[in-house]
Amino acid sequence: MNDRTRADVIVIGAGIAGASAADALAADCSVVLIERESQPGYHTTGRSAALFAPVYGPAPIRALTRASAAFMSSPPEGFSDNPILSARGALFIAREDQLQAMQALHDELRAEGNFEELDGTGVRQLQPSVRDGYAAAGLYDVNCEDIDVAALHQGFLRRARARDCTLVTSAEVLSLEQLGDGWRVQTSAGRFEAPRVVNAAGAWADVLGQMAGAEPIGLIPKRRTAMQIAAPDGAAVGGWPIVVDVEEEFYVKPVAGQLLLSPANEDHDVPCDVQPDELDIAICVDRVERAFAFRVGRIETRWAGLRSFVADKCPVAGYSAEVPGFFWLAGQGGYGIQTSPALGALAAALVLGEPLPQTMVDEGVDLATLAPERLSA
Ligand SMILES: Cc1cc2nc3c(=O)[nH]c(=O)nc-3n(C[C@H](O)[C@H](O)[C@H](O)COP(=O)(O)OP(=O)(O)OC[C@H]3O[C@@H](n4cnc5c(N)ncnc54)[C@H](O)[C@@H]3O)c2cc1C
Repeated sequence: MNDRTRADVIVIGAGIAGASAADALAADCSVVLIERESQPGYHTTGRSAALFAPVYGPAPIRALTRASAAFMSSPPEGFSDNPILSARGALFIAREDQLQAMQALHDELRAEGNFEELDGTGVRQLQPSVRDGYAAAGLYDVNCEDIDVAALHQGFLRRARARDCTLVTSAEVLSLEQLGDGWRVQTSAGRFEAPRVVNAAGAWADVLGQMAGAEPIGLIPKRRTAMQIAAPDGAAVGGWPIVVDVEEEFYVKPVAGQLLLSPANEDHDVPCDVQPDELDIAICVDRVERAFAFRVGRIETRWAGLRSFVADKCPVAGYSAEVPGFFWLAGQGGYGIQTSPALGALAAALVLGEPLPQTMVDEGVDLATLAPERLSA
């Protein structure tokens, strides 16, 4: 470990949010990136479904996703040995009783993408494993892609360190103390000081905010469970699209020759090393077996992760109005991987007092939709 204890900026949390912000900051100033776990990515970042879905989430999320697309599809030279994105496609399906929800989705997204509208027969032509008679309509979005999350996360961390960032792992932040015009951060691995602190602590962001004496943002960690099963009957599932219930009752996504299943639950939880719940698993198996013609056999792996949201389900990026030099980068919810290139760069610009890059403005990114003050307004 480098013995740096002072820097221009301390970033707390080395998940995708902290890693992307530290990388962007380290191009212009010195950074210490502090992570409690021995491995960055142990929490939500390492537990995602790894999808880049330009049509997913509220409008501010979609703007951040658009602003991340160029980086994702053509990462900078030397950033990663592997492509970050690869083709997938998403098939939204609706039962007869969900046709209104399908219409609403279509109406909302009509202007934003190139979708193929399908009837029940069209759904089964595209995905024959959907049970005959189950789906009454579908919407196919060719623009959803798989993200190589490890390549993206490691790319940010590697480039940050090659710039001017020191990563300190196994270092839990225990206290934050204002010191003149800066901060003293006490961790289980020593003390660090900087004029500015970025709070990218994922589900723990409000805990860190409380340590700093900042206003709470009302972050709610929501548990989402997932599991992986072998491909049914040894089918070559690699080319299947992700199939998503239009009301997000479940999704099924190919991963490394197997299938990832999730009941797409959003159960209120607390910041913790969250574990999968047996009831979530049973609900998921039931929903998937109703929709698909295959049976869910042995579950190879199961896990859960916390998707942390504030009230309007948009991220929080900006300085605290109450505590000088304390910057929020939290509330990425279910979209933190796909938005990370833009959100990391945006956070770095704001931390350093620079304007938002014009490319982001052009994509419709609006700082007012991300500012912490909107939550108290
Ligand atoms: C099942 C599931 C599916 C998902 N699918 C997608 C998807 O397809 N696409 C997408 O874009 N997003 C998806 N997401 C959401 C995405 O994973 C998150 O938005 C993103 O990972 C959040 O990153 P983060 O860095 O904020 O949090 P984290 O990865 O949790 O990182 C926060 C870090 O802060 C550290 N920390 C906390 N407290 C302290 C402390 N006191 N001291 C030091 N360090 C501390 C933690 O140890 C942790 O490593 C999914 C999430 C789940 C759970």
